Amino acid sequence: MPKTFKGGVHPNYNKFPDVPVTVIAPPDQVVIPLVQHIGAPNKPLVQVGDYVKMGQKIGENGDAPVSAPVHASVSGKVIAVEPRPHPLGDLIPAVVIENDHRDTPCTDLAPLTEEELKNGEAILQRMRDAGIVGMGGAMFPTAFKIKSGLGKVDTLIINGAECEPYLNGDHITMRTYPEQLLKGIECARIAAGLDKAYYGIEVNKQDAIDILNSFHPEKYGIEIVPEEVKYPQGSEKHQIKAITGREVKPGGLPAGVGCTVISTRTCYAIYQACYEGKPVIERIVTVAGSAMNQKANALTRVGTPLGYLAEQCGGYHDLRKVVLGGPMMGICATSLEAPTIKGTAGVLYFTKKEDRTVKNPTCIRCGKCTTVCPMHLQPCMMYMYYSKGDFEGMSRYHVTDCIECGSCSYNCPARMPLTHAFKTAKLMFQAKAAKEKAAAEAAAKEAGK
Ligand code: SF4
Ligand code: SF4
Repeated sequence: MPKTFKGGVHPNYNKFPDVPVTVIAPPDQVVIPLVQHIGAPNKPLVQVGDYVKMGQKIGENGDAPVSAPVHASVSGKVIAVEPRPHPLGDLIPAVVIENDHRDTPCTDLAPLTEEELKNGEAILQRMRDAGIVGMGGAMFPTAFKIKSGLGKVDTLIINGAECEPYLNGDHITMRTYPEQLLKGIECARIAAGLDKAYYGIEVNKQDAIDILNSFHPEKYGIEIVPEEVKYPQGSEKHQIKAITGREVKPGGLPAGVGCTVISTRTCYAIYQACYEGKPVIERIVTVAGSAMNQKANALTRVGTPLGYLAEQCGGYHDLRKVVLGGPMMGICATSLEAPTIKGTAGVLYFTKKEDRTVKNPTCIRCGKCTTVCPMHLQPCMMYMYYSKGDFEGMSRYHVTDCIECGSCSYNCPARMPLTHAFKTAKLMFQAKAAKEKAAAEAAAKEAGK
């Protein structure tokens, strides 16, 4: 019986893993943002006029434990180090490289030796050197995530749900590189100091499950766990619940219940880093949406502008909105000049057909949002207190436990902007906490005078 959790929705998946991978020709200029991770920003290691090789480290923050370096995704000349549009909004410092179209490789990272491949510390160091972050979209530095769980975590879970509509990169990776993927998971397991890893995969990828099983995952200390097809099966908390039965308490972290969860694409990047000496410079990006003339599974270099990517995949028409990631949790891009980054699993280009906005929506108290919330929250009540700006009411209904999965908005017949409201509410709580902390510090300073 496939494992799952209570709540969730079954959106129209619109997946197309059978469309062959298109290799996107790298653009004449790539834009490599210096920040492609959660944590301390990187500093540039290059300046205008420098020649860089493909795979060369061009930005890092050596002192910060929570950080991940960035690498050149093409060879060529650095023509700017300056703020550029970032896919997550704002202008963020970036290294712009004029591509010489030679892909001259940098050989700074050699494949690990047989001995190193059995050594957790060597693998963790390689993850860090290769700039590996959570490539499911979270972009948390993977080496730090695994290292901080050492001695506390007893269960490593690999997320193979890929439950967001449209996205296909994980499914394709499982089918195309099964042995490499299992080796990447084995490296992660060794780095985590564990004997076994669990690989949770939704059964709409049964072909991939069969292929992976034919490579004897038990040889690598891995058990494949089939999961029911349901959104958001791929959220960390719901993977943990489905596989171990453990519940991450509100405000808690996976490590608090002895678990670490990492994504399929991250494990493949670990394989490439450890076995091939390759840093994170490319990935499969799903390109689709009603505005696209064609859909594609595009092998894309990091730093490829979103407008260029769409052109290479057949172009678009009547473009209204660009969403990074899947349609349920993705965020809107503000510029077609913004580039793909390590965490870009998909880019969806939509016309106004998908625009669900209605003017002055009114809750009809149907309760459909509550029945699907995988966190067992009451979105309609949270929204009511949010619209009044009532922090106490929002706290009573646990708005900060929302994982922003979008299931409530998807299921709401009145088209209330629920998820957007809860994202904003969480930011309001963060700002309030920061303000209170600053006021308390100022008061303590005053008292100490
Ligand atoms: S309230 Fe949050 S966690 Fe619950 S369904 Fe809505 S977005 Fe998901
Ligand atoms: S689903 Fe929408 S209309 Fe129904 S109770 Fe929830 S917020 Fe109100």
